[in-house]
Amino acid sequence: MTLRFDNSYAALPPAFFSRLDPTPVRAPRLLAFNDDLAAVMGISRADLPDLAAIFGGNAVPEGAAPLAQLYAGHQFGNWNPQLGDGRAILLGEVLGADGIRRDVQLKGSGPTPYSRMGDGRAWLGPVLREYVVSEAMHALGIPTTRALAAVETGEPVYREDGALPGAVLTRVAASHVRVGTFQIFAARGEVHNLRTLTDYAIARHYPDAEGPMGLLSAVRDAQARLIAAWMSVGFIHGVMNTDNCAISGETIDYGPCAFLDIYHPETVFSSIDRFGRYAYSNQPDIVVWNLAQLATALIQQMVDKEAAVEEATAIVHAMPGLIQTHWSEIFLRKIGIAHAQDGDLDLVTGLLERMAKHQADFTNTFRSLPGAAARDQFSDPGAFDQWAETWHARLTREADPARVMEAANPAFIPRNHRIEQMIEAAVGGDYTLFDRLTAVLARPFEDQPEHADLQRPPTPEEVVAATFCGT
Ligand code: AMP
Ligand code: MG
Repeated sequence: MTLRFDNSYAALPPAFFSRLDPTPVRAPRLLAFNDDLAAVMGISRADLPDLAAIFGGNAVPEGAAPLAQLYAGHQFGNWNPQLGDGRAILLGEVLGADGIRRDVQLKGSGPTPYSRMGDGRAWLGPVLREYVVSEAMHALGIPTTRALAAVETGEPVYREDGALPGAVLTRVAASHVRVGTFQIFAARGEVHNLRTLTDYAIARHYPDAEGPMGLLSAVRDAQARLIAAWMSVGFIHGVMNTDNCAISGETIDYGPCAFLDIYHPETVFSSIDRFGRYAYSNQPDIVVWNLAQLATALIQQMVDKEAAVEEATAIVHAMPGLIQTHWSEIFLRKIGIAHAQDGDLDLVTGLLERMAKHQADFTNTFRSLPGAAARDQFSDPGAFDQWAETWHARLTREADPARVMEAANPAFIPRNHRIEQMIEAAVGGDYTLFDRLTAVLARPFEDQPEHADLQRPPTPEEVVAATFCGT
């Protein structure tokens, strides 16, 4: 066994978690293993005697210190005083070949003291969705948790639709410390634990940050970059609750997430997001709201609260501007502008407005900008031509706009209808589409003409109306 565990979270005070092993499953069968990620982590298939047993939760590897983490959070704006890993077990942390420390967590590994009414399990669909989408995000260059393995359990999971095949995902993360981890100790008035967690998060993620307010600034910067990156590829997270907001700045928790096909700023996919709180264009506002919750929690440990409130307010208030700066830079690159000049942003907003008005596909419009085909994405191509005149004139002042655009505009994203088709096939035992998606999405910026069908937006019959909360 060569998972080189070095467990720092398990060494924190007992109030932070509950120690327990994953619940064994009936017939673990390996569905997927991420050799590339394993290599980065300094492990290989050959070193691990029984992948299905380890990543299904039946064999706890030597050196692991399995535990369920405690946290709280605001879900859709409502305070929930206790959440915690209700269906996940942190096996421990592994130091990679690159020296980086990573959490290895089983998701869907059985009930824990935090399961509340849940069964502690996951079904195959959400496990494969998270596997494909999180790996696609990584390949797009966006900070994210990753997927190391997927194992079928051989046990049914009962959901609204009846019995479904159960599965376990192995998730790898910079850490699973969330805004909600701070919130629980703040809400309980456990200042001691709050201080310990603050020191831990600083040491693990932002060693240069000074004190709680330094941490707040660092998280703000990371989350600002993250949200701008999401926006740039049309990603809608769907459940940006404070318990799904990682201190590391990684995308975490792929539940009812999806990528835009046709561009419309108010798009919502999640069936549980009835008021559009986490709609595409609301994400920048919501992440600021989440940061304000982190600020509120962090302040509880400050001696001079009045001064802390003032400082924290200034830090939070600077966040919209930071997001806007990143957003502008990325979206200018998407239209081929590497060096901004006055008035350039009007070009971006002008294009987006026309895309929304004329039902243009988000990904394909940007990807086809350098050629002549972009106009075909618009229900009224003339609307694009009008915009393109000014744009072409501006591009004459750029050195290599085509290259800038190609690097900023992926050809391939995990389109929601393909994910649904992949899940349906997998339930029937066919992993052809799963394999193709993982391979193609690993190189999203390369043209892969033989996979052009994966660039196509859904036909009206293929459109997935809503995605469900990964339960
Ligand atoms: P999520 O929406 O996936 O971020 O989950 C929110 C909370 O519900 C977390 O505390 C999860 O651990 C918990 N949870 C979600 N699904 C289940 C389940 N099937 N069994 C137990 N807990 C769950
Ligand atoms: Mg969650």
